[in-house]
Amino acid sequence: MLEVAVGAARLAASICERVQLEDNRPDVGDKAQREPVTIADYASQAVILRALSQAFPSHRILSEEDSSHLRASMDDHVVDRITQLCAAACEISLTFDDVCRHIDWSGGDDPDYCWAIDPIDGTKGFLRGDQYAVAIGLLYRNVPVLGALACPNLELDPKIPDAGRGVLMLSSQGNGAWQEPLRGGGRSAIRVSETTDPGEVRILGSVESSHGDPKVITALVEDLKLGEMVRVDSQAKYGLLARGGAEVYLRPRSRPDYRDNVWDHVAGCAIATEAGARCTDQDGAPLDFSFGRKLESNRGVLATHGALHDDIVASLRRISALA
Ligand code: AMP
Ligand code: MG
Repeated sequence: MLEVAVGAARLAASICERVQLEDNRPDVGDKAQREPVTIADYASQAVILRALSQAFPSHRILSEEDSSHLRASMDDHVVDRITQLCAAACEISLTFDDVCRHIDWSGGDDPDYCWAIDPIDGTKGFLRGDQYAVAIGLLYRNVPVLGALACPNLELDPKIPDAGRGVLMLSSQGNGAWQEPLRGGGRSAIRVSETTDPGEVRILGSVESSHGDPKVITALVEDLKLGEMVRVDSQAKYGLLARGGAEVYLRPRSRPDYRDNVWDHVAGCAIATEAGARCTDQDGAPLDFSFGRKLESNRGVLATHGALHDDIVASLRRISALA
């Protein structure tokens, strides 16, 4: 299962990188949605779901996109480009109908296995040329057990500046968490940071302020005298936590009615947990992935390297009492 997910993540990442290089205006924004969506989101989802439907036809699927907006607009350039990107990546001939059928694959009815897929997590980062991720996670009985996270713009090793960019993070429960270069090379085990000094704690938050109130993060940093705050798009934040590049990822609930999408967390939580992290919501409650597309019962998300998790939950409680 891990190798199928890794293969699909690599294929999808190659499409995203190609679009970033070759397409001037990849955004095909759906006016009905508030989030941007690009030709790369659609092509990425098509190749991932094609691979999963062939390998595991009975497994359930939760994924971000569907083809309704694409089919309704039917812009010739967009239709041709998405079809061409998928066909070239899969090295087969495909029609636009085939591509839409793959995008809309909703899986079988297996009671135990369910994939959660974000074909481009951090589309706003992708459009800015910053961080984004192809995220493929697997739930077994509603627990994240496997993750493949391709981060084409993430540094392979910040200590070696010319090591280049493009990282694939992966994990399977009980077996380990690793990273490998997206452009080929060996796998190395990753592990969370062992820092216990609050002053050395680096805390990750969204670049987009609307995705999680940065004032809450600033208040937490002040309350616990933490180190620096680093703003990064996408589940690359979970990847950084998992390899010890930061100690905390906080995603405060952005507004009272917001519920996080499962595909924004399954792959990242699987990898970070396997690398030694603790993942809960901002109140310290376990993440409950049993509600389908949304984390209905959780408020925000908090993932840490462990040492200060309970202190952070207590501080967040004090901060929200003062607000
Ligand atoms: P990030 O790059 O970590 O800021 O997260 C990107 C994800 O934020 C997208 O995949 C969206 O699902 C999600 N998102 C969109 N709007 C909101 C919001 N208002 N609050 C929290 N997350 C959001
Ligand atoms: Mg996303």
